Amino acid sequence: MSIKITMLGTGAALLDPDRGHSSIAVTIGEKTYLLDCGTDASRQLVKANIDPTTVEAVFLSHLHFDHIADFPVFVIGNWMADRQTAPIVFGPQGTQEFVDHLFEEGAFAVDIKARLQYPQRQNNAIALRPDVRLMAPGLIYEDDSVRVIAGLVDHIPEEISNCFGLRLEAEGRVVAFSGDTAPCDTVLELARDADLLIHEATFPEAAIEFRSKAGIGTYSHTSPRQLGVLAKEAGVKSLVATHFGHWDSTNPIVRKLAAKHMPVAMMGPHLMDEVATDIREAYEGPLRLAYDQMTIHL
Ligand SMILES: [Zn+2]
Ligand SMILES: [Zn+2]
Repeated sequence: MSIKITMLGTGAALLDPDRGHSSIAVTIGEKTYLLDCGTDASRQLVKANIDPTTVEAVFLSHLHFDHIADFPVFVIGNWMADRQTAPIVFGPQGTQEFVDHLFEEGAFAVDIKARLQYPQRQNNAIALRPDVRLMAPGLIYEDDSVRVIAGLVDHIPEEISNCFGLRLEAEGRVVAFSGDTAPCDTVLELARDADLLIHEATFPEAAIEFRSKAGIGTYSHTSPRQLGVLAKEAGVKSLVATHFGHWDSTNPIVRKLAAKHMPVAMMGPHLMDEVATDIREAYEGPLRLAYDQMTIHL
């Protein structure tokens, strides 16, 4: 069976007209698995000609909004599209509470109550009741297509919530996904000899310097140079960098919004070249810089 990866959203948390928030579809044969469900994920699935009702399971790497905000859209959209089963969703501690606050008893109660007036919508209310499974390090999911292994990464302080990276094994191939993280041994292990590593590269080196001088957090992400070293050490066969913090944007509103946490004068598409060069200081294998709707066949 073929494995197809579709990069649905490749941006970081601030709004960016050119990139949706984090989401990746991994399609193995007829089944699709969703890694993160950031803003715009459902629309991008449809745009990529992937039927959202064929998604077997959703894996939320962590509970930052840019990785989960489309989840209610995904669930209600599946319900309206006549999905007959409860969506399976894996996530860190706090995922059950996140889901409990969304649907029949939560933020979208009025919408759901209104739509439930139609008999057709009453038949599959189960699709509104996600089957939440908490992630822990190790093997978390297995079916006849894929094994999914999770590992704790280094992003949000542990006392608030934990964050995960993932390793998917299917058809004798391996796809690893970092989630958001500083460089850490867990990702090194999850990515060991992977056919493809999809890894965050949220800020270019120059922005990291600016952010540390301005007192804004820099520890929780991986720099391009660090990513190159990690990809080389892990022995990955190909690399996709993603989760870009809008520093390549030329949009004047993005530049205005970014002013407090980014050296705006240096923003622009040329930084993409710098990021690639910095990754390449250590890593010599195939490298792609992600954009929304990029597809990769393994
Ligand atoms: Zn993020
Ligand atoms: Zn995050």
